[in-house]
Amino acid sequence: MAGNRALYEQVILEHNKKPRNFREMPDATRKLEGFNPLCGDHFTLFVKLNGDVVEDVSFSGAGCAISKSSASVMTTLIKGKTIKEAEQLFATFHKMVTAPPDAPIDEESAGRLAVFAGVREFPVRIKCATLAWHTLLSLLDGKASPVSTE
Ligand code: ZN
Repeated sequence: MAGNRALYEQVILEHNKKPRNFREMPDATRKLEGFNPLCGDHFTLFVKLNGDVVEDVSFSGAGCAISKSSASVMTTLIKGKTIKEAEQLFATFHKMVTAPPDAPIDEESAGRLAVFAGVREFPVRIKCATLAWHTLLSLLDGKASPVSTE
């Protein structure tokens, strides 16, 4: 497990340094802002929907390493998925990060999201890790008002 932890930290730092899909999308079909006032994380999410398929997704803004890398990993997982699949991924992610710190991680279903399991030990960080996801789900749900974790 110790080896995994070092690997996970490396993945988070790498995504923070070089976030994927980190750009504005002028022709987005929907966009929505998300805030985490507790930490100061503030992102805007952009999606291009084709029916119920997320054809493209990107984000802009600023935040801590956890929030930024979580948004980055999320965009890589969501692209090409249906809204329903995105919701299922979030359910898996949310269950993992809100589980007790000593609960085993189902790495098979969590996949690349498993790198964020460490936030379970730092409750204030859970909001950082889930901010982009909450924003995405509201966006896919057609909501127009900005998302706040407070
Ligand atoms: Zn944060």
